[in-house]
Formats: sequence, C-alpha cells, structure tokens
Amino acid sequence: MGQAAFPATVTQRPFVPSDPRRVTMYVCGPTVYNYSHIGNFRPVVVFDVLFRLLRRLYGEDHVVYAANVTDVDDKINKKAADEGVPIEVITARYLDAYHADMSCLGALPPTFEPRATQTMDAIIDMIGRLVRNNAAYAAEGHVLFNTQAYSDYGKLSRRPLDEMIDGARVEVAPYKQHPADFVLWKPSKPDEPVWASPFGPGRPGWHIECSAMIEQTLGLPIDIHGGGNDLIFPHHENEMAQGMCADHADAYANYWVHNGFLNMGVEKMSKSLGNVELVHDLVTRVPGEALRWALLASHYRQPLAWSDEVTDQARKALDSLYGVLRRTADVEAQAAEPSAAFMDALMDDLNTPRAYAELHSLGQRLGTAPADEKPALKGQLLASARLIGFLQADPEAWFQGGADPALTQRIEALIVERDVARAAKDWTTADRIRAELTALKIEVMDGPNGATWKLKEPA
Ligand SMILES: [Zn+2]
Repeated sequence: MGQAAFPATVTQRPFVPSDPRRVTMYVCGPTVYNYSHIGNFRPVVVFDVLFRLLRRLYGEDHVVYAANVTDVDDKINKKAADEGVPIEVITARYLDAYHADMSCLGALPPTFEPRATQTMDAIIDMIGRLVRNNAAYAAEGHVLFNTQAYSDYGKLSRRPLDEMIDGARVEVAPYKQHPADFVLWKPSKPDEPVWASPFGPGRPGWHIECSAMIEQTLGLPIDIHGGGNDLIFPHHENEMAQGMCADHADAYANYWVHNGFLNMGVEKMSKSLGNVELVHDLVTRVPGEALRWALLASHYRQPLAWSDEVTDQARKALDSLYGVLRRTADVEAQAAEPSAAFMDALMDDLNTPRAYAELHSLGQRLGTAPADEKPALKGQLLASARLIGFLQADPEAWFQGGADPALTQRIEALIVERDVARAAKDWTTADRIRAELTALKIEVMDGPNGATWKLKEPA
C-alpha cells in the first residue's frame, strides 16, 4: 500500500484498517459537465481494483467505498447557460454517461455516491463549525478557510507556505486575510443556482464538498483516501485542513493513495490541451475490457503514456488469455482461489504488471498441462482474473466482439450453411461459403464441436 504525498517522498507501509469490520475508502469523483476522457478513468479503475481486493480481504460487507459526484460547479453552470437548460439536465445527462463508461470498463459501483447538491446541509453545517472554531471567516459574502489557523497546512503536499503563496500571488482576492486562504462558500452570480445559508445565499466551494461527504458517509478518520496525483495540492491539502479543523479528529485519512498521470505521448491529457480521448468514443473502437487492461498495464503510481499501441497490446494480451479459454472450452473449471503468486503481486502495492504476468503464466500452464491438471489451473486462472475484473466473458463472445449485430447474423447463417454442406460432403459449396466468409474478413476455425469464427485482425 503506498502512502503518496509527492512521488519523490512516497513510502510504503503495511495497511492496517482502524476497524476491519468497516474498512473505509474515499475517492474524489467526477464533475459531471461533459464526457469523461480516458485519463479521468485511470483512478476509477485503479481504485476499483483496490476496492475489489479489500472486499476479498475483509469481506464484501465490510468495505465501504464512497466516491462523490460534483454536480454544482462553474463549468456545469456555463454549460447549462449555453444550452439554456437547468443544471439538472446537464448533470443527469453526464452522470448517466459516466455510469455507462464505468460499466463498460468493469468498475463496480461504489457503496455510496454522494452528490454535492444532496449534501448541502452537511456542507453548510461543516462551514458553520469551521467559523465557530475560528478556522474560517466571512468576508464580502464569502466564507474563507483561514490557513493560519491550521499549523499543519502544507504537510500533505510537503510545500512550504511561501511556495504556496508564490503560486497564489498572481491574483489574490482583496477579501482574503492570507493569500493561501481558500473559498468555502461564495455568492452565486445572477441566474446561477443558489442555496440559503447562515452566511448568505450562495454555493459551496469545491474542496468543502469532499470533507463534508467523508464526514457524513464514512466518518473521520477514514482508512484510505484516493485520487490522482494532480489533486494532492490544493484539493487534498484543503480537504484535510477542513476536516481536521471542523471535526477535531486525530487524523483525516490514515493512508493517502495517489495515482500517476495519464499522458498523451509526453503531454498530459487534458481538455484545455485539446488532446483528449473520450471513453464514450474509445468504447466504440476498443472493447471496454481491453481499455481496463490498458489502464492497469503500468503500475498505478507511474505515469501512463496512452497510445494506440497500449490498447493494441491490451487487446493482444486478452486475445491470448481468451484463446486459451476457448481451446479449453471443454475443460470444466474447478472451484478455486486466486493463485498465491497473483495475490502476492496485488498485495505488493497493487502491482498489476506482476499480476498480469501471473495470469499469462497460468494461461500458458493451462494450455500445456496434462488433462487431469487442467480443471484446477482453469479454476485458478478464472478466479485470479475475476478478482480484478477480467476474463468473465464467453471466449467466443470476446473474439466476435468487433462485429455489428447484422453482420454477426449473416456470418452465423453462412457458418450453419457451410456446416450443412460439409456434413453432406458438398465440398464445392463449403469452399464457396468459406471464400465468402474470407471476403467478409472472417476467419473460420473447425473444431470437434463445429466451426467457430472470429474477425481477422485488421492488417
Ligand atoms: Zn475530493
């Protein structure tokens, strides 16, 4: 388990939950104003693997995982204004799309998915406590967090305060007592959504939403707080400051786990750079399972350079594993546990590249083992892969995944026709149909249980 602050200062220590009967994890979720790009989904998939591993270790009913949905925000307001619709229309549309992407990529739904607009009472209550504890002050319709009131401010991101001030100096709002102070509550502009509060009408800042949701859904301190590296400062630093000052807890999160960036070549993938690949588009070209494989192909703390080559390799890796399963379709898998080597890899700070190597090794052994050893090996391969969300499809369906339904129907009809011709030893007809299938870029494989087929790899 990694405790990440900045990559240079990451330390690994054994994970011990505060209460093994209620292991808690929080991961910062999406702002729902647009389709998600593949970089947004790296933490979704990484923490899904951690969630699945924790459920295996502590029991499915003993792990509570919350991921928030930011459904009030400047970008949402702008999009709603551009389309002339209420923000709910925008947030419902893109939350649906986000859920569809999650399901394509095999991510389990979190236990709780709190939404900012439905957590307003808890947010307002927390701001009130911060004001009473002298950790926040009101100024010109805003409420600001007083960074001078929290001596550990900067500890998580290991930034000296002057450095943070330098960063903030560019544009310091006149109502701030200190340049590093940040907004907890702000007035809404005309036509923007607005909530009543003891500090005046307005809406919350972004950071406070996570602290309030964590307190409300999980309670402080939580065991694991996750998110992308880019959230360490200021978001997680600010979250922690708010939680500690409002709750007087001993700690905010006992383990911070941060994943590395996903880059397009050497650049960060970001909407502002215009180099994004939307999950919504990618899933029309690449099976969701291959996208999931690609996202986990590098260790989560390392940067991940996204490219067509990465998804091609993922597809080939899955082709190879599904190929073994197809060749051993007649082997009944024994009920089994994931292999020890596979578990060791995951328990070593979620070492997915090593876990993949073990899946390939199991696949290879399954392919070559004597018949009496195959059922156990197949069980082990399936159980290991299932734990991190792979190889649950029918191998035939995997190889046919690229075809459209009308084409699939036509191919199936041709295969049946060809089988009939072959059974009648009508080789001329059988060969003609085979040539027709080849023209459709279909490869036919004759086996003991009849013919199977797959789309040929594009040249
Ligand atoms: Zn957050």
